[in-house]
Amino acid sequence: MFRQGMAAAWRAEIVSGACSRGIRRKIREKISMENLLEIKHMRKAFDELEVLKDSLDDMIDLLKPGGRICVITFHSLEDRIVKTIFKTNENPCTCPSNFPVCVCGNKPKGRLVVKKPIVPGEEELTKNKRSKSSKLRVFERI
Ligand SMILES: [Zn+2]
Repeated sequence: MFRQGMAAAWRAEIVSGACSRGIRRKIREKISMENLLEIKHMRKAFDELEVLKDSLDDMIDLLKPGGRICVITFHSLEDRIVKTIFKTNENPCTCPSNFPVCVCGNKPKGRLVVKKPIVPGEEELTKNKRSKSSKLRVFERI
C-alpha cells in the first residue's frame, strides 16, 4: 500500500512539471485524497493488529492451567503477531543471553503445543480454497 502511495506521489511530480497551475492543484488534491484513504486503511489494519496483540495476552491470562487457546490466522502479519505473543509467553525471560541465570524473574505462562503452525491438508484445500493461507497455532497454559 505504501508503495502505491509512493508511486502516486512520483507520478504527481512528473505531471506537475508539465501542466497549468489549476490542473496541478486538482491532481495534487486527488492524490492526497487517495493517500488519505490508503492511510485510513492502513490505520484500520494496524488497529486490528493492536487489538489482536492486547486480547491475546489477556486471553492467555484468563486461561486455567491446562487450558488451550487456538488461533487461526489468514495473513502473515497476523500470524507473526500470534507466533511472537505465544513465544514471549512461553519464554518471557528478558535477561541477556550471556547471563548464567535468569534475574528478570519473568516466568513462563505456558507452552506451544505445536512448534510449527498447522496448515490445511490437501483434502481441506480442494474442498475449501480459501483455507490456503490459514495457519493454526495452539498455546497451553501451565
Ligand atoms: Zn530472565
